[in-house]
Amino acid sequence: MRTQIVAGNWKMNNDLPETEALISNLKRQTKTSHAEVMVAPTFVNLYHAYEALRGFDIEVIAQNMHFADNGAFTGEVSASMLESVGVKTVILGHSERRAYFNETDEDLAKKVDTALKNNMRVIFCFGEELADRKSHNHKKVVETQIKNALFHLPDDAWKSIVLAYEPVWAIGTGETATPEQAQEMHAFIRKTIEEDAYGIDIANNVSILYGGSVKPNNAKDIFSKPDVDGGLIGGASLNAEDFFKIVNAF
Ligand code: PEP
Repeated sequence: MRTQIVAGNWKMNNDLPETEALISNLKRQTKTSHAEVMVAPTFVNLYHAYEALRGFDIEVIAQNMHFADNGAFTGEVSASMLESVGVKTVILGHSERRAYFNETDEDLAKKVDTALKNNMRVIFCFGEELADRKSHNHKKVVETQIKNALFHLPDDAWKSIVLAYEPVWAIGTGETATPEQAQEMHAFIRKTIEEDAYGIDIANNVSILYGGSVKPNNAKDIFSKPDVDGGLIGGASLNAEDFFKIVNAF
């Protein structure tokens, strides 16, 4: 059975006191599902979050990292820095990184390699824009994003890859892909992995999360689809009660 994951991406929200308050609330929640739970605070609060959640069943993960091991990259953070504060999983390729910081598939392929070289797990994000869907080009766009960033990997690297399909038009907009649209794309992704490169075992074992305006009131329907293995949650992850309603929607 594939790992079910619900990961909260806090983005550039929450200073230290707000992070402490949110973590206190998270600790009061009860998990009734088997999903792995993760939260991604901003870099400056990672270590505090890691310490504060020590012993709790919530993994602290990073929102991004640089592809270089170290060096003259002012303002950037490396894989080994993340590891040194307890981080073992990193989100890469979020649409906001692609759109506002010009991250390309080529950059992301390098970031994936660096993360894996450092024994980290990657949550790799991708997804089409509204214009792609309107022109019925969405599958091609997604296929290209995945192939460019991931299809150079050897088979055994896939055990450290989690995919997150996040249609850009559904992120932070309140507009969610229907459960059927999510299922259709997730099944397509799995088929692409199986047929174009890696075979059925790898395709069946990779967890594919959905992201884009997942809320307590729609999570159950989305998670009920056979190829949806969890969610990457933005806005709703900033409220501990809402986030755990989503975690417990499995
Ligand atoms: C995201 O940014 O990954 C995301 C899914 O955001 P939201 O849940 O707010 O749409």
